[in-house]
Amino acid sequence: MENQTIKKVVIAGGGTAGWTAAAALSRQLGSLLDITLIESDQIGTVAVGEATIPTIRTFHHLLGIDEKAFMRATQASFKLGIAFEDWGGLDERYFHAFGQIGKSTWMGDFHHIWMMAKANGLAGELGDYCFELQAAEAGKFATSEHSKLNYAYHLDAGLYARFLRQMSEGNGVSRVEGKITKVEQVADTGYIEALVLESGERVEGDLFIDCTGFRGLLIEETLKTGYEDWSEYLPMDSALAVQTEATDPALPYTRSIAHESGWQWRIPLRHRVGNGLVYCSKYISDEDARTALFDNIQGKTLTEPRVINFKTGCRRKVWTKNCVALGLSTGFVEPLESTSIHLIQNGIIRLIQLFPFNGMDDALIRHYNEQSKEELVSIRDFIILHYKQTARDDSAFWRDQQAMDIPDTLAQRIALFKENAHAYQAPDDLFRVDSWVQVMMGQGLVPKGYHHMGALMSTEQMQKALGGIKSNIAKAVESMPPHQQFLDQYCAD
Ligand SMILES: Cc1cc2nc3c(=O)[nH]c(=O)nc-3n(C[C@H](O)[C@H](O)[C@H](O)COP(=O)(O)OP(=O)(O)OC[C@H]3O[C@@H](n4cnc5c(N)ncnc54)[C@H](O)[C@@H]3O)c2cc1C
Repeated sequence: MENQTIKKVVIAGGGTAGWTAAAALSRQLGSLLDITLIESDQIGTVAVGEATIPTIRTFHHLLGIDEKAFMRATQASFKLGIAFEDWGGLDERYFHAFGQIGKSTWMGDFHHIWMMAKANGLAGELGDYCFELQAAEAGKFATSEHSKLNYAYHLDAGLYARFLRQMSEGNGVSRVEGKITKVEQVADTGYIEALVLESGERVEGDLFIDCTGFRGLLIEETLKTGYEDWSEYLPMDSALAVQTEATDPALPYTRSIAHESGWQWRIPLRHRVGNGLVYCSKYISDEDARTALFDNIQGKTLTEPRVINFKTGCRRKVWTKNCVALGLSTGFVEPLESTSIHLIQNGIIRLIQLFPFNGMDDALIRHYNEQSKEELVSIRDFIILHYKQTARDDSAFWRDQQAMDIPDTLAQRIALFKENAHAYQAPDDLFRVDSWVQVMMGQGLVPKGYHHMGALMSTEQMQKALGGIKSNIAKAVESMPPHQQFLDQYCAD
């Protein structure tokens, strides 16, 4: 241990990324490291990022987080998926639910059987065979040792950072308050040596984690890593966020409502609702975006609306020299599928697994960067799908989205699905086959053909199999309490 080269870790920034890194590192490697986090109350955090995906539960498990304590502390609600309204076409709605649909076999995925059954008048809607979707639509929720619901959370971003901070400080992380005004580098290598604060305090480190948000104070402003711009595919560059009082019981899902030149999120928490409009400034002004959002929110506003500007894309290398970036400093692919917090969590897990105890190693850095990039590219493609594959042509924005060129990786997926309904999850893909299928079909991509595995069953067998799945789900949903009721009970102090 005395030979350990990298011992002193300095985390710059204390938003969700900074405190997630601090909590995970201190919990897992705390006894081997000396961890300091610097944040500036004066600068503050981005203060959005409130919808998550189910992988957060695995991450929390790794950190030993008690679910009830976490939910109470962050005013969290449960999330079973996302309802997409007006995306495939005006007045259309579909669900991207987190669960599995029906029962797949080694030969093929369930939707192939369903398509054949549907063509023969033997099946209901695809969503009838998804437990999470049916529970979400019914506004029901329950979790127990026997419940198989796959779920995530909606959480208050500010409270989440506070919760993780408490954990981190409890595990020995030192917090330094102050604005970083200078980044000192070793003259010949360019490695970062220390961060200097406005007060003159100097914080030295061996490894620096850049969690300073969009600006990337270390990774970009200092190390000039470079940015790969994806705005040709994802032209959204602005968001307007506002919080409102809750007027209705909390829904167990996020609402994503497409507008003429963007889309709106509605995230129900226990103490309020998070709202926002994501838009492209080429098609709509901030003022008109504000009107579009305010015409579609309910309840008294609790905060002043804030415009947040961003450029979709990614840092060319998220690990450069002795600096690893996490969170918004790595880039941003817009929040449509709530993937950023997941990427932070995966980034820190990867860093823990590849931790450079013995010093920086080019092969290791390259490996980390390649893995991070592949993960992000498949998420990017999934998001682009929502814009490209639409029947909407009621505005210049949607017409341009339909006409845009897309990456070959996505074009291949669409072609594969369009002909024979094949979808796949590659090893580095976050999204499962059921996610791709729900969004492709939801956005109006109807395959011409499908695998004929369904024909191996008789009509009676097919009816029995599908009917059994559907009625089991219906019974289970029937027996569950309303989400709000469960939430109130579950989170009662
Ligand atoms: C509109 C929008 C909606 C989003 N919705 C979702 C969502 O639903 N789900 C999801 O998973 N993600 C979402 N995200 C992404 C999510 O918000 C971020 O991934 C997450 O909040 C992490 O942000 P961060 O910690 O990287 O940056 P920030 O929150 O910006 O934190 C940066 C930190 O660095 C500090 N800092 C900066 N400069 C200095 C300095 N010079 N000295 C000292 N400290 C400094 C700041 O004080 C702050 O503590 C959304 C993002 C946007 C823009």
